[in-house]
Amino acid sequence: MHFSFAKAADFMVEHEYRVGRHVSTAGGISNSFINAESVGCNTMQIFISSPRIWDVPDINAAGIELFRSSASEHDIIPVFVHMPYLPNLASPDSNIYKKSVDALIKISKLCDELGIGYLITHLGSHKGNGKEKGIRNVINAISTAIQATEHVNILMEDQAGHANSVGADIDDIKDIYSGIRSKRVGICLDTCHLFAAGYDIRDHKVLDKMDRTLGFVNVKCLHLNDSLSGLGSFKDRHERIGSGAIGMDGFKDFFSYGKLRGIPIIMETAQPSSTAEAKEITTVRKLIG
Ligand SMILES: [Zn+2]
Ligand SMILES: [Zn+2]
Repeated sequence: MHFSFAKAADFMVEHEYRVGRHVSTAGGISNSFINAESVGCNTMQIFISSPRIWDVPDINAAGIELFRSSASEHDIIPVFVHMPYLPNLASPDSNIYKKSVDALIKISKLCDELGIGYLITHLGSHKGNGKEKGIRNVINAISTAIQATEHVNILMEDQAGHANSVGADIDDIKDIYSGIRSKRVGICLDTCHLFAAGYDIRDHKVLDKMDRTLGFVNVKCLHLNDSLSGLGSFKDRHERIGSGAIGMDGFKDFFSYGKLRGIPIIMETAQPSSTAEAKEITTVRKLIG
């Protein structure tokens, strides 16, 4: 039995929000637990390989063991891993596509070894080759990674809508979700990306429609970021909570929507210091009540 999966099941039963942020793994991935705890997180997101290079390094047995024992000593649940930025699961270029699927498989396997329950991935860009083909590539990529692993859940993250992107339109995510047909595929919604892609998350009618399309029960992570750019701007520019176009009142409206309760929250905002990071965590805990 993987301890972290058992504990991961408990937090969903609590229906309490877990609040955390993307934290650094400087000095080794096991340090992330201390980094997260020191700013008041009780969930976190990390990279387990450098976000801007292709190579996914191995983690030796001692590193795996250290991470697992650190996990059992800290109340940081769940742990989310974010895929690096270079892989493009929708790529029409066979070389890039193969490298991307290989990276997804390797990181998925590492998540299994580390006892990490959730891997978050972007859905990539079809580079002008047509969305349908891009979506087919993503379905194949995620299905292959799921078949190659036993435990990890792969979460598809919505996008802000840069040119040729897959996943800014939530119907793309729905199509990929139904194409994979696995209980181990889920969704991560990013509030900044949704807003930039034109979904006014302050409006409960918009959220109702989203629930009918995706099902909030399938959303296993909320990336909570304010947006520097306006509604429908298609720009992915994160802002600190309350300082952007969504604003504190906008987030209050968002969180008054009942079906979000219990979905773990991860912030990916740039803060100047760990004190500011801790303050933001406190602000969000107050906001969600
Ligand atoms: Zn992301
Ligand atoms: Zn973003």
